[in-house]
Amino acid sequence: MPVLSKRTEHFTDSVIRRMTRVANKYGAVNLSQGFPDFDPPQQLKDALAQVAQGSIHQYAVTWGAKNFRESLARKQAVFTGVEVDPETQIVVTCGSTEAMMASMLAVTNPGDKVIVFSPFYENYGADAILSGAEPIYVPLRPPRFGFDPEELENAFRQNPKALILCNPSNPCGKVFTREELEFIAELAIKYDVFVITDEVYEHIVYKPHKHISFASLPGVSDLTITCSSLSKTYSITGWRLGYVIAPPHITESIRKVHDFLTVGAAAPLQEAAVTALNFDTDYYRKLLGHYTEKKDFFIDGLRRIGLKFTEPQGAYYVMVDVSEFGVKDDVAFCEWMAKEVGVAAVPGSSFFKNKENSYVRFHFAKNISTLEDALKRLEKLKEKVRNGKNDGDTLAWQRRTGRVYSI
Ligand code: GLN
Repeated sequence: MPVLSKRTEHFTDSVIRRMTRVANKYGAVNLSQGFPDFDPPQQLKDALAQVAQGSIHQYAVTWGAKNFRESLARKQAVFTGVEVDPETQIVVTCGSTEAMMASMLAVTNPGDKVIVFSPFYENYGADAILSGAEPIYVPLRPPRFGFDPEELENAFRQNPKALILCNPSNPCGKVFTREELEFIAELAIKYDVFVITDEVYEHIVYKPHKHISFASLPGVSDLTITCSSLSKTYSITGWRLGYVIAPPHITESIRKVHDFLTVGAAAPLQEAAVTALNFDTDYYRKLLGHYTEKKDFFIDGLRRIGLKFTEPQGAYYVMVDVSEFGVKDDVAFCEWMAKEVGVAAVPGSSFFKNKENSYVRFHFAKNISTLEDALKRLEKLKEKVRNGKNDGDTLAWQRRTGRVYSI
């Protein structure tokens, strides 16, 4: 038998996406993989219907349709104050997942080091492995998820090629302050390191916190590769529309990688999405209002149930501390919870560098009625854990370290 590549030996399939399959299997409320259960704006659906009847059904320009790039450049100028040349500085990709991967492949050589804050969005681990890069993890310490400046500078001293900055952060909901970003910028300039950002939650930042796009800081325009997407901002995760914004010489390399990875993002969807990119600022104000309501509703419920968590400053995730349950294997715990409690979450260990069993991640990008249903089920969580212990029917996740339920 021929042997498969070593590349894929060192990571599993995505635990986040696997948990969606677990949720479906047990009919659990799916608060694991972060995507909305509500529709995108009607105007956007109308635009898509109209495009379907038109003539844009063949490839767009490989790095993105001109009107999409121009609308995006206008939106960036409004929200970040940074002028972007749509002809030379934008690549439209298949989601920010491809944006990050193409950026990593364009920037790193096998063996290069890349700084990653931990906890981190699980894709970055696989991105590093696929591009042959070696992550240097710098902890964001719960419950506040701050970093130690000295620890970060030590990572910069190890001659890294790039730093990955997820802001607002998935999974911990941290929004980096201007001071923190300026400190990172200072180090990136001093040590000549690229900063690859993931800003997909840029419009979901709760007051009084503010999103500061890294590229808008002074002195970093040559080093910054901004990745983001339309998925979260317009509730269209299935459209797979993302983008990279970078200086022209970097963009040129990323465009080459992108061209051979995917050729391009879906042309009709790009065309329809122009409608969304041209929404006025009121749209974003309302979006934030909706997410603020969901966050408050969900965390108030968690508080009522007596679960410990860190209130998110941005994005739509909340990390719940489950250490009181003595969880030894959070993957098994999440599978048990989906089956027995009827709510699916992502095991925190998929986001941390070190083996960590103290957290599970819930998302709240759901209708209030869905969140209400989830909270009602979670009210039984403590009791079910307790009963499992009391009647001798010790929960399977406590008995063994291996998998309990097959996925
Ligand atoms: N970003 C979302 C999450 O973390 C969904 C990820 C994905 O499946 N692309 O849950």
